[in-house]
Amino acid sequence: MKCVLAFLPAAVIGIALVLLASCNSSQPGSSSKGQLWERELGAVQNVPLSPDEAQKELNLKVDLIPEGKYGRRLFREMTPQYITIHSTQNPTGDAYAHAKALNRGALRGGVCGYLCWHFTVQQDAVIQHLPTSERGEHADFDGPGNRYSIGIEMCEHQSNDQLETMERTAKLAASLMYHHKIPIENIRAHYHWPREGYNPPNKDCPHFLLENGQPGTTWRWFVGRIQRHHQRLVAFDEAAREQRMKEEESKRRKQMVQRIWNAVSGLVGLG
Ligand SMILES: [Zn+2]
Repeated sequence: MKCVLAFLPAAVIGIALVLLASCNSSQPGSSSKGQLWERELGAVQNVPLSPDEAQKELNLKVDLIPEGKYGRRLFREMTPQYITIHSTQNPTGDAYAHAKALNRGALRGGVCGYLCWHFTVQQDAVIQHLPTSERGEHADFDGPGNRYSIGIEMCEHQSNDQLETMERTAKLAASLMYHHKIPIENIRAHYHWPREGYNPPNKDCPHFLLENGQPGTTWRWFVGRIQRHHQRLVAFDEAAREQRMKEEESKRRKQMVQRIWNAVSGLVGLG
């Protein structure tokens, strides 16, 4: 009896701790949005994917701003080290409308006089506006966000599926990480690049992935999603490397057997 009584408080504390933990995870604006989206999208498949296949899935259309004009008025070479994620906050323009606007220099601003970024993503397609070897004007004027990052805008027009757009963006970011050897910690929200002279300096962008205007659990969920897509590409390379090693080993063994056979044949011949 004494033993049961001694056990009870520990059990009560244990239950209270479990309840506290579950309350924490269901607070509004915490992990619940990411968890809900993860359920709707389903887990990222844990199987290797070839970079070529991944590229096909993006449905990438290249429609570059004319060379030497508007956002490409000045040739400014860039070696990308970061990827910056934005959302358009434009309820009417789809990716094609943004491409048109960029190609005729309709969006003014930035250091060179015209806004420009590298990719716009909508639910079913990605449009590329700038080579990834040229800098854009999408983040922080002459700051590192513009000088060293690939800018991706996610569409927000009304008929657009936000979840599919985020997923396509995560896949695009994973492919870019793979091709440019960009580490996961260099995936940045526009928020991460302060804009000099603005109040607040850090923009609430991409707003639907932030909490109270700042990166939190939803942003971390999104970055995790990018990381899992990237892992599939890395796993493909690892599987290919393993296959190559197996083939080389098999070749080596065959050559060794052949050498032994030749030596034995030679001995027999001598005898
Ligand atoms: Zn932005």
